[in-house]
Amino acid sequence: MKTIDNNTKTPVKVRLKPDVKALFSIIDSNNSGYITPDQLWQSLEKRGILRTDYRLRNIHKNLSSTSSGSEKKISLKQFEESIYPNTIVKKALTGDLIISDFSSFTQDMCAIFKETKKNSNGKVADYIPQLARVDADKFGFSVCTVDGQSFNYGDAKELFCLQSSCKPINYCIVHDALGEEKVHQHIGREPSGRSFNEMALNKDGLPHNPLINSGAIMSCALLKPELDMSDRFDHVLKTWEDLSGGIKPSFNNSVYLSERKTADRNFALAYFMSESDAFPENTNLVETLEFYFQCCSIEVTASAMANAASTLANGGMQPQTGQQIFDPNTVKNCLSLMNSCGMYDFSGEFSFTIGFPAKSGVSGALLIVIPNVMGIAIWSPRLDEHGNSVRGVEFCKKLTEQFNFHNYDNLVNNGSKKDPRKRKFETKIDNVLALIWAAAQGDLDEVKRLEALGVDLNAADYDGRTAMHLAASEGELEVVRYLVSKKAKISLKDRWGTVPLKDAERGNYEEIVSFFKQRMLRVNA
Ligand code: GLU
Repeated sequence: MKTIDNNTKTPVKVRLKPDVKALFSIIDSNNSGYITPDQLWQSLEKRGILRTDYRLRNIHKNLSSTSSGSEKKISLKQFEESIYPNTIVKKALTGDLIISDFSSFTQDMCAIFKETKKNSNGKVADYIPQLARVDADKFGFSVCTVDGQSFNYGDAKELFCLQSSCKPINYCIVHDALGEEKVHQHIGREPSGRSFNEMALNKDGLPHNPLINSGAIMSCALLKPELDMSDRFDHVLKTWEDLSGGIKPSFNNSVYLSERKTADRNFALAYFMSESDAFPENTNLVETLEFYFQCCSIEVTASAMANAASTLANGGMQPQTGQQIFDPNTVKNCLSLMNSCGMYDFSGEFSFTIGFPAKSGVSGALLIVIPNVMGIAIWSPRLDEHGNSVRGVEFCKKLTEQFNFHNYDNLVNNGSKKDPRKRKFETKIDNVLALIWAAAQGDLDEVKRLEALGVDLNAADYDGRTAMHLAASEGELEVVRYLVSKKAKISLKDRWGTVPLKDAERGNYEEIVSFFKQRMLRVNA
């Protein structure tokens, strides 16, 4: 709620103490005096907190110890004492999570999904039989916000292999272990401007960046080289599990075997780098390549990948478990690279028009990060000529058209895109209040700016007071004239039945009074 601070004359936020009983009765929709666990889970799920969420574990424990049987009931007292105090429950029920109107947001996402599903252009990757055989029509997406709100849709629980989407995570692992300087002694950080597996190195004889094949092979060479191959691979698997909030990844051995068998280009790249002395000393080339193929063959679901992406969106801390997995600086560097190099030869165009960090893979995977807001994973196997998922890219285009997710959208702020971070009605209420306030202050520029944003000049606050009422009450003739010139109404009544003319009379603003009277005569004539 906003009120006016008399000293500064600016609106200030007032924190209200939530009424737990009222929140309980929202869940207890038929007023029975108790709620069932299912009602509780459903109401949390609507807000993006799934019943499997790690942060609800104590509630599960409490419920199973205090009541038994299928007819479990939770009284208001029990709710107040052992459920509501849980931080995530409290935040969800009071609308304090990053996307407070989560169900509207996910409905919008589903509408985008359905539109995008109509697109069956592109072809699945066919350089190995395992990818060629994947059902081309599969399509799923998942979202996980920085507050751990989750939503899965379509084929979001089916496994697909990471392929190139393993690259940003391996980069983060080595960056965390070795630091920026050491990593970038072996890998550049420029878009290559060439195809992802082209035989090209930068002027220092290094791979251009960690998100193309040569750079990803180099990340593998740098990744825990002191350990056995099995432990190095376990380390990558465990990192994915942690990033996903405990969902164990899988491994597709046939993909691995096929990758290894058709790897001439990757072998050539490795020897090319070896020739220019790019690898750290004692690198075993064959082991490094096999390690890279193994990482590409790890399988995850969109649901797990979205959780991993949300960890990046959250500066390296897994939102559901609270585990700090990567250093924020590592994540910052990784996202910068995803922004400039994550989408093969479409990276520049993607960053220009869509404008958020993403990494695709030839399995049709797309790992997306909206920094400080959410991670998204999309899986749809048909690829365009660049190797990006056709539906994945279309989904992103629609997403950025509707929501202010482009990196630089905050510079434009023309009100044409939705901001899901805002509470339901918040933008609307803020704009109406701002308009009324600007009118009362005689700030014509601000009135014009808000009008340009699409704010209705006849919009009223809860008491039915409009900009015209306020301008008349405060004697702001210029604003009154402007509003009238823009066809704002002078006859609207507030909740006490007062019209703006009456306000002007009360304040003895003669010029406004006669202006209104003339208008009325003209209208009635
Ligand atoms: N396994 C693929 C390769 O190295 C990765 C392809 C990709 O997703 O870009 O050729």
